[in-house]
Amino acid sequence: MGQTEQDVERAAELVLQSQRIVVFTGAGVSTESGIPDFRSPGGIWTKFQPEDFTIQKYLSCPETRMKIWTLGREFKFQQALPNAAHMAIVEIEKMGKLLAVITQNIDNLHQRAGNSHKLVIELHGNVQEVICMSCQAQWRWEDVERRALAGEEDPHCTHCGGILKPNAIFFGEPLPEDAFMEAEEKSGRCDLFIVIGSSLAVYPAAGIPTHARYCGAKVVIINLRHTDQDHLAELVIRGRAGDVMFRIIKIVEKRMACS
Ligand code: NAD
Repeated sequence: MGQTEQDVERAAELVLQSQRIVVFTGAGVSTESGIPDFRSPGGIWTKFQPEDFTIQKYLSCPETRMKIWTLGREFKFQQALPNAAHMAIVEIEKMGKLLAVITQNIDNLHQRAGNSHKLVIELHGNVQEVICMSCQAQWRWEDVERRALAGEEDPHCTHCGGILKPNAIFFGEPLPEDAFMEAEEKSGRCDLFIVIGSSLAVYPAAGIPTHARYCGAKVVIINLRHTDQDHLAELVIRGRAGDVMFRIIKIVEKRMACS
C-alpha cells in the first residue's frame, strides 16, 4: 500500500471514529471546479494586485471597482459546479456526523452541493450578493456585472447613488462577528477538524484550526502543498481535494455498510 493510500485509510478511520466533524475549507477545495485560488501558479494573484482587494482601494478608486465587475468572470464563480470534494462533505452530513462547514470561500459551492445552509459558516461572505454601501439595498452579482459590461461606468445603487460592493470581505474589513463566533464555538467542541485546500495563511480565519486542536480535536490537513500549520495535524495528506475526499468517503461508506 502506497503512502497516500495508507493516509486515506487512516483518515477514513478517523471519520468513522468521530461524531462531531468540522470541515474547514479554503480556495483549494474549489480549484477542481475551475475557480482559481490566490496563491497557486495561475492563481488570482497573477491577474489582480492584492491592493485591488483592500477595502480602502475599492472604496476610493472607480477603476478598481470597474476591474472587479468586468474581470470578475476570471473567477468563474457563475459557471462553476461543485466537485467530488464538495459532494464528499455532503455525504458526511448525511451520515449525521457534520457539525459545520467553515469556509473561507465566497463561491456558494457548499450550498449548491447540497449542504444545509444552516451548517455552512461563511467567514468571508458570498460573492453572489452585492450590497449598497449607503442604503444596504441588495443586488445580484450578475445584474451589476451586466451593467458594467454594457458600458456603464462604475455602476452605483439606483435607489440612492451609493457605491456597490460584492458582499464578500475585502482585506482591511472585519470578519462578520456572528459567523466567526459560531466558527469558534463549533471548532471548540468538534472531535475531528478536517482542513481542505487552505494555505492557512490568512488570519484571523487561519487561527481556527489551532483553536480546535487545543480544545482537543484531531486535525487532518488535505492539501497539494505544505501549509503553515502542518505541525498541528495528526495527519497530513498531500493530494487533490476531490480525489482524496472521494476515496475517504468510499471507504467510510463501505465500512458503515458492513457493520
Ligand atoms: P489560498 O489561495 O491562499 O490557498 C489555497 C490552498 O489550496 C493552497 O495551499 C493550495 O496548495 C491548495 N490547493 C489548491 N488546489 C488544491 C487541490 N485541488 N487540492 C488540494 N489543495 C489544493 O486560499 P485560502 O487559504 O482559501 O485563503 C485565501 C482567501 O482566498 C480566502 O480569504 C478566500 O476568501 C479567498 N478565495 C476564495 C475563492 C473561492 O471562493 N473559491 C477563490 C480564491 C480566493
